Amino acid sequence: MEDAYRILHQYFGYETFRPGQEKLIQGILQGRDVVGILPTGGGKSLCYQIPALSLPGLTLVISPLISLMKDQVDGLRELGISAAKIDGQTEPVAYRDIMRSAFRGDLKLLYIAPERLAQESFQRAVKNLPIALVAIDEAHCVSQWGHDFRPSYRQIATGLSALTPRPIFAALTATATEPVQADIVKGLALQDPLVYVADFDRPNLYFNILAPSDRKKTLLSFLADGQSAIVYCATRRTVDALSAYLNDQGVTAVAYHAGLSAEERERHQDAFINDKVQVAVATNAFGMGIDKPDVRRVIHYNIPKNIESYYQEAGRAGRDGAPAEAVLFFNAADIMTNLFLIGQSREPNARQKLDAMLGYAYTGSCLRHYLLRYFQPTEDLPPACGHCAICDGRITTTDVTEPARMVLSCIARMGQRYGTSLIIDVLRGAKTERIRSQGFDHLSTYGLLAKSSKGALRDVITLLAAEGYLAVVGADYPILKLTEKSRALLQGEAQLSMNRPRSVRSGQGHLATEDLDETLFHALRQLRREMADNLGLPPYIIFTDRTLQDLARRMPRTPEDLLAVHGIGAVKAKKYGAPFLLAIRRYLQG
Ligand code: ADP
Ligand code: ZN
Repeated sequence: MEDAYRILHQYFGYETFRPGQEKLIQGILQGRDVVGILPTGGGKSLCYQIPALSLPGLTLVISPLISLMKDQVDGLRELGISAAKIDGQTEPVAYRDIMRSAFRGDLKLLYIAPERLAQESFQRAVKNLPIALVAIDEAHCVSQWGHDFRPSYRQIATGLSALTPRPIFAALTATATEPVQADIVKGLALQDPLVYVADFDRPNLYFNILAPSDRKKTLLSFLADGQSAIVYCATRRTVDALSAYLNDQGVTAVAYHAGLSAEERERHQDAFINDKVQVAVATNAFGMGIDKPDVRRVIHYNIPKNIESYYQEAGRAGRDGAPAEAVLFFNAADIMTNLFLIGQSREPNARQKLDAMLGYAYTGSCLRHYLLRYFQPTEDLPPACGHCAICDGRITTTDVTEPARMVLSCIARMGQRYGTSLIIDVLRGAKTERIRSQGFDHLSTYGLLAKSSKGALRDVITLLAAEGYLAVVGADYPILKLTEKSRALLQGEAQLSMNRPRSVRSGQGHLATEDLDETLFHALRQLRREMADNLGLPPYIIFTDRTLQDLARRMPRTPEDLLAVHGIGAVKAKKYGAPFLLAIRRYLQG
């Protein structure tokens, strides 16, 4: 492991391993197959990149996404590591060059897509390569239980079966469920692997939930500090409208969804990765290929359908380990739509999964621990994490048992045939023709909640539906009906309480790091930006935000000082250090 530590410092410029990295690397270096299950941003790449540098021979990396491969190869080369990729666009000449240098042992890492293994010519060529390690990224793609099954992953084991001696296999994924784990071991024909399932906690992520009265305005206030952000929306239409709105308001943004051409998608993704624009507004089509480590915020404009998606998308914030924020915008109408659509969906467990997601939006206890318990139910967790909107006391709970009972009783009296709006109108005592003609103005519940706002009543009804006190049914539009559970509440045997985000404040406070000199940090960002523009590289490939923050904190004076900074190893110090040292010196001289 000494060698692993040396590589960690010298090449990557990091002080310590993240949880799991050390065990997995050790396993590989001892010649064992491994399965590493680490959350998004947990640092999976290092688990095979360090062994790749330590073991004699070549490491073959199988990865499902071209954009991700390119990113990794560019990043490795910046660190002075010889790496290459072969994809559908690789020209024959380049292909031969790559294979030749791999054969000679000049190449440490070779990235390929799984489809490549199906080619006989490649299978023949691969037999002659000195392959020590095969790393399989996004290994859950081998499983039909996972959320992105790829048939080509099934060919990995057979495609490489002729290799002698058999290389070590390392499978990595962020999907933690048992059946996927079992499929990975079986589908990739792993031999007695060392399995490491990491703690899924991401301590640098601040979890926040808001119920803005004006979602767009609130969104603007969150984006005002100019930090890189992804905004997730439920539909393409919202994505288009919202990205147009942001640009109108002077916030640079690109849209990303499956309705755009491949060329547009690539252009938009590049603009975001290279910090040409601040925001990517996206459907969940955006992400698997995104490896931008310095996204500071992920904001969900609409509530996702399940916690798996939410945690994965939220996890795209702060992969560099610096403070970052995951914000869920909560909107009652949205939730109703989801409940209605789920009722019509055939997907198994869809409703249960949505309920778990709604539970997150309504929970009165620690947000982080709610999420972690979902993934690891056995985990013993303290009651509070201290770093989320609930633990901070930003969200308060109110008892809504009384109004909830009135809602249920009103629905019963109206005959259980109507949707939210009419029920609200009756409870508030609206004087409409429809209400009069149906005789609803003679009900005892008519006008019973005249003092409540429409929004407040909508929230209560949504909560009732989310907690199973109301069923959302109907063929064309959502109708609310009582359920088995309703009686308990009507008869005073149950209580209902609701969370209310106390105030709609920008989350900027959570991103501030205490001992950081903001002025210097901004100057360094500016410098990084100019260098990136000149070199045609994404800024984070030069240094991540976390590195810049550490630079601003430590204010190194000499090239040796630089090596103590997070994320700066020997190669990067030499390549990019001087201008940063100069900028710091200038700043100190005022
Ligand atoms: P994922 O598990 O999502 O594939 P990555 O491998 O992309 O995560 O790593 C996420 C970020 O964390 C990268 O910027 C990487 O350089 C950084 N990182 C990985 N390991 C460490 C470590 N031991 N110390 C500090 N940063 C690390
Ligand atoms: Zn908490």
